[in-house]
This record gives sequence, structure tokens and C-alpha cells, in this order.
Amino acid sequence: MKIAIIGAGAMGSLFGGLLCKDGNEVWFVDVWEDHINTIKEKGLTMVGDRATFVVNPRATTNASEAGRVDLIVLFVKGFHTEKAMNNVLNIIDGHTTVLTLQNGLGNVEIIEKYIDREQVLFGMTTLTSDLEGPGRIFMSYAGEGETTIQPAGTRWEEAHQVSAVFNSSGLHTIVSENVKQHIWEKLVVNCNYNTYCALLGLSTGQLMDAAAAQNLLEATTKEISAVATAAGFELPFDRAWEHLMEVGREAHAHYPSMLIDIRQRRQTEIHFLNGAVVREGKKQGIPTPVNETAVLLLKVLESTHHHREHN
Ligand code: NAD
Repeated sequence: MKIAIIGAGAMGSLFGGLLCKDGNEVWFVDVWEDHINTIKEKGLTMVGDRATFVVNPRATTNASEAGRVDLIVLFVKGFHTEKAMNNVLNIIDGHTTVLTLQNGLGNVEIIEKYIDREQVLFGMTTLTSDLEGPGRIFMSYAGEGETTIQPAGTRWEEAHQVSAVFNSSGLHTIVSENVKQHIWEKLVVNCNYNTYCALLGLSTGQLMDAAAAQNLLEATTKEISAVATAAGFELPFDRAWEHLMEVGREAHAHYPSMLIDIRQRRQTEIHFLNGAVVREGKKQGIPTPVNETAVLLLKVLESTHHHREHN
């Protein structure tokens, strides 16, 4: 399969690297010139607990060099989706499938402004990856990890083709009718740990062990559960809370990526996480004041780094 990875950062490089290793024609498309040049010169180094290897995908900052592709895997951060889609329209035709595995909710709606909804697949992955520097990633997921995908429209056959190619590359992938349910379950985790660890400068364990944080996490989760339930998903509070605590115990020592983004003064995906809960809450008539406050605080934090430099 001829595949373009749009946004070949931590996750794009993980998926693209494994797909390339399995013999697919893979193009890495990214705006980060150092990364693209390093991959062109020395390949992509993929460091793992069990093995480290180098793969040699094609790499470019100019999508049109790739020509028409069968599959686009979109792995830019949500706030870059619009611009990235704009830049790749010339490598898409009516038979190209676009898959988003980005976190949160809202990317499908942006993508379908540019192409027919029938060509879009969306999904959720429990795999994780970290960028160590230009041309080098650490495959940080422990155990097997899983990716679930679903067509936004009716193209189930394409979803199965993509899943077959992914599975052959070692990316354990399932086609499911329930991906949005999985996305809401993951939202509970990200809207609590990512957001509050970023706001408070804590690891997941430090946050969940602080007695005073319990009410905050509970209030946030109750709103997400109420919105998801009103939107037709099975997310009773008790189940959402149990899942949150279980993930928290597993990721106790982990500093969520949103905290790293804040420390490095980068924009965060808050609009696609708690922001998405607020938007869906408005649609469903469910008030979400706690999530709304979290979004506002994070936006203030993102826009005031220059003041903290002097503190
Ligand atoms: P990342 O920042 O490592 O990679 C994003 C890449 O997109 C960067 O290399 C950046 O240069 C590139 N980019 C920005 N604008 C672009 C454009 N217009 N065209 C092409 N490339 C562009 O991010 P990531 O950690 O790989 O995350 C990607 C998505 O996957 C996010 O939605 C994230 O929430 C989700 N996710 C991440 C993980 C993880 O472990 N890192 C796990 C699951 C899901």
C-alpha cells in the first residue's frame, strides 16, 4: 500500500516506521526540516525495550513529491489538522482513504471539510511513542497495545483493508462499530490527568494521591459521564471512575504529554479534550462548568508563559 504519514512526529513515526519495515511504500510528510533531513540521510531510528532498528521511509516537507497515495495517516496535533489537510489535497483522489488516530474529538469534522466523509476513517490507539530528537523515537508503550478503527461513513471494506495492512506490520488493529465509545473512555483519562497535571505541574500519581484533587477529578468525570450518556454512549460515572483510577495506578510515575507541552511552551490539544466535552455538553443541554473552567485556565496558562519566565 502507498501510504503518506502526515505529521511524522512521535506517533506518525511509530506507525509509519512499522508500516515501512513491513514493505509498504511510506512517505513521511512533516514541516520539521531537521527531522525530515535526518531521516533522508540516516533513516529513522526506532528504539524499543526489546529491539532497536533503523528504517528508511521516503521523507519530505512537500507532500506533492509523494504523488497520489492510497492511505493518509494523519498524526499532527489537532490544532494543525486544518493546515495539514490543506497541504495534502494534491495527493488525494476519490480512492484515497484518510485515517485519523489523533486524540480527542473534533478532527473528523475538520477533515470532512476537505474531503468526502466516505473517505474518512477514525480511530483510537493505546500505543504510545516519544520523540527523542530528529530522526529518533522511543516506542514507549508497554505490552501489546491496540488500535481500533471505524469508517466515518460506510466504507467498511476499506477499514478492513487498512486493518490488514496494519496487523501485518505488527500494529494490532481491530475494526469496530464502537470506536466513539473507546474515544469517550480515553477522554475521561486525558481530560483529567493531561489537563490537571499540565495545570498543576504534577505527575499522574502526585495528582491522584492528593486528597484535595479527588473532588476535582470526580466533578470533571461526572460531567463527562453525563455528556457521554446524553450523547448515547455507555459511560456511567462508576465505570468511568474505575477506569480513571486503574489507568492512574498504571501510569503513576508518568508526566502526561500535555505537561511536557506546557513546559516546552507549546500549544496544547485542550480544545479537542475538555473543549470537546464542553461543545458536546452544549449540544446535549448538559452544563459542564468544571470542564469549561479547565479549558479557560489552560488557555490562560498557554498565553502567559512570558510572565512566568521572570518569576
Ligand atoms: P508530535 O508533536 O510528536 O508530532 C506531530 C508532528 O506534526 C510534528 O513532527 C510536527 O512537526 C508535525 N506537523 C505540524 N504541523 C504540520 C503540518 N502542517 N503538516 C505536516 N506535519 C506537521 O505529536 P504526537 O505525540 O505524535 O501526537 C500526534 C497525535 O497523536 C496527537 O493528536 C496526540 O494526542 C495523539 N496521540 C499521541 C500519543 C503519544 O504517545 N505521543 C498517543 C496516542 C495519541
